[in-house]
Amino acid sequence: MEKLTGAEEVLEFSRADMTRIVSQRLKEDREKRGTTALLKERVDLKKKIHELEAANEGYRAANRDAVKRGILDPDEWEREWLGTPDGRICSICAGLVGARADLPSGDFDRGGGRGPPRHPRCRCCEIIVTRRLG
Ligand SMILES: [Zn+2]
Repeated sequence: MEKLTGAEEVLEFSRADMTRIVSQRLKEDREKRGTTALLKERVDLKKKIHELEAANEGYRAANRDAVKRGILDPDEWEREWLGTPDGRICSICAGLVGARADLPSGDFDRGGGRGPPRHPRCRCCEIIVTRRLG
């Protein structure tokens, strides 16, 4: 086999390497775009859950204040987990619909903790209801 000149070696190297480098860069770009989309989705989800937490926390704070001011009597009223029992409800929230918690800041029964939201995209909230008798 004829020995390649320096220039031919460079060309030969370049052709093979350029193909490899270009396909590698394209793959990285695709992955980067995918990662960016995933990151954006994660940020959007985090923003959404913070908004839900803030809305629910605002409601809880207003109710705590109402208890403190004697407007809401914790012996008469309690909190109830309100879900959206449709085809989209997840098994976690389906199990929490109707769970109860003491006013002003008791934990929800059935493992509901402090209250909704329970997870990203959770559509649950809590409401004030009259205490169950018995
Ligand atoms: Zn939920």
